[in-house]
Amino acid sequence: MFDPFFHIHHLCEVDSTNDRAKELARQGAPEGTLIVAETQRAGRGRRGRSWSSPHGGLYFSLILRPPIPPEYASQLVVVTAASLYRALHRRSLPVSLKWPNDLVAGGKKLAGILVEGGFASQGLSFAVVGVGVNVNGQPPIEGATSIEALTASPQGKEEILQDILGEMKAGYLAYLAEGIEPALADYRRGCITLNREVIIIGPEGKARAKAIDVGSRGELLVEYPDGCRRLVFADEVSLRTC
Ligand code: ATP
Repeated sequence: MFDPFFHIHHLCEVDSTNDRAKELARQGAPEGTLIVAETQRAGRGRRGRSWSSPHGGLYFSLILRPPIPPEYASQLVVVTAASLYRALHRRSLPVSLKWPNDLVAGGKKLAGILVEGGFASQGLSFAVVGVGVNVNGQPPIEGATSIEALTASPQGKEEILQDILGEMKAGYLAYLAEGIEPALADYRRGCITLNREVIIIGPEGKARAKAIDVGSRGELLVEYPDGCRRLVFADEVSLRTC
């Protein structure tokens, strides 16, 4: 039984669950509307990168309407990543968070998050929180892993979806009631990027730095070899760990 918070649209195939969710949100679909698809023809990651979405994976997008200013929408990445981390960790999967929006296990990518906002003159009118998790089958691309690959047995997708949604709802309600701190504490705990040397790839080229902390809007505090510190934002840079 699914929680009545979620209004579920289950599709066999779709171009992108985020695009479908954004269409529905613009048409006035309520908070909690959830698009789940068995496969995506054109799943997306950040900056239009493709998200490989074969059968066996979980692909869903959730419409939220949090009363927050647009510049806080990036907090929903933190809230979602912390929720996914808790849900998968509870299943004893050896997962970590890789800043800003990935879950990894054994250095390979298991899941990704894509949050997109819908803006109106008065601020954020909706946010679409997209999640892709490699559950069953072989890892879809090199550098990826799946829950089946990690556990050596196929897993119940429905049960995993329920666990994740339970954590996402709890995480979201805690965020609305208490702010970002509880999610941020879980995010920092699970974040494998922190205290590591990283290469920041941004508009000005590549730079080596040490990842120090994650800030309240999900930004990364880094320290350069000369001791200078700076905040980097997920929409500006890509990161490689050294
Ligand atoms: P960055 O390199 O900037 O940190 P990212 O790792 O956060 O980007 P996203 O843009 O979130 O990546 O996701 C897209 C990337 O994820 C693709 O370019 C591809 O490398 C990888 N990818 C695509 N499909 C899958 C999948 N099903 N499982 C794991 N990784 C995938």
